[in-house]
Amino acid sequence: MRKDFLPFSRPSITDEDVAAVGEVMRSGWITTGPKAAEFETNLLKYVGNEGGAVAVMSATGGMHVALAALKIGPGDEVITPSLTWVSTVNLIVLAGARPVFVDVDKDTLIATPERIEAAVTSRTKAIIPVHYAGAAADMEPIRKLAAAKGVAVIEDAAHSIGTEYRGERVGRRGTSVFSFHPIKNITTGEGGMVVSDDAAFLDEVKRLKFHGLGVDAFDRKMQGRSPQAQVMQPGFKYNLPDMLAVLGVRQLARVDAMNERRRALAMRYREKLAGVDEVMPLGEPKYPFKHAWHLFIVRVCAEKRGIDRAKFMEELKKRNIGSGIHFVAAHLQKYYADVMGFRRGSLPNTEWNSDRICSLPLFPDMKEGDVDEVVAAIKEVLTGAA
Ligand SMILES: *Cc1c(COP(=O)(O)O)cnc(C)c1O
Repeated sequence: MRKDFLPFSRPSITDEDVAAVGEVMRSGWITTGPKAAEFETNLLKYVGNEGGAVAVMSATGGMHVALAALKIGPGDEVITPSLTWVSTVNLIVLAGARPVFVDVDKDTLIATPERIEAAVTSRTKAIIPVHYAGAAADMEPIRKLAAAKGVAVIEDAAHSIGTEYRGERVGRRGTSVFSFHPIKNITTGEGGMVVSDDAAFLDEVKRLKFHGLGVDAFDRKMQGRSPQAQVMQPGFKYNLPDMLAVLGVRQLARVDAMNERRRALAMRYREKLAGVDEVMPLGEPKYPFKHAWHLFIVRVCAEKRGIDRAKFMEELKKRNIGSGIHFVAAHLQKYYADVMGFRRGSLPNTEWNSDRICSLPLFPDMKEGDVDEVVAAIKEVLTGAA
């Protein structure tokens, strides 16, 4: 058995990253300033979007201001998969709008354009597709549908920095929200980025993420905030400080190498798990895309051996191996079931996966030998060996 615990995710932080954060801390300017601006510029260039980018304290904060900028509120419907991080659904409800859940493909966990189209009504204000686990959602038909219906699209790109769809990086077009939470492919500790080619929308996002002030206070970074700034509308406080943004600048420069490392480890999992029928890796979409391998998800189907997912995860943990669940379907969470009345049975593929998915350890600093140990432990758990 492993001597040390292998978590399912661990950020990749170098001594140079630590030194760069220290430098910002000693510079006399630690909140949002030149480093945040550099991070925005670099990320915009990386994804190839010709619009702008706004760094925020989390993808959740970014989604909050995006929904607010679209003026989504009571009477509106927002289409999203239920198999997503629940923050999106919470924000829709907090805005006073109604989440309309669409089922996902059973094998990719991605909401299909057909299901999204079937969910559109005259009340639909926005669609939030999720690029799941690092694979791309099928954006072309979704964009066409949205344009035809006059509905906004906000891509949940939390898993997909470096993901490509039909030869373009996620974030290249339209509006996307990235996350830099510690488990994501690059991290700033906590953080996020709203990228958009819609200038008017982005101006709203910029104001709303900082008190609703009508000037970008950080243009005057050397003097601090402009005392002349006027509140144009009530806003929030989601700006990303330079202390964190500097980590983003450094991590983004390594994202391709880190994602390649994730790919190699994922391929090794696939190879080693071939023939282990009780743990089924996800399938891949048929359209052209490049995976960012944010997560390596399997479905635990070991009922015949008397092992459910909880037992499977517990047994791995006993063997010093961490795992995670991404995600429990939002419509099955207590509030959404008890208070909002969403029911099991409404989204069969989502529910089947929500009960079985398990994320195995995957992060760039993992070794091949770690993958082999995880697979050996899985085989042990399945056969009931001690
Ligand atoms: C992590 C995540 C988010 C939220 O990101 P934060 O930066 O933690 O707010 C949103 N959606 C998905 C799919 C995520 O995995």
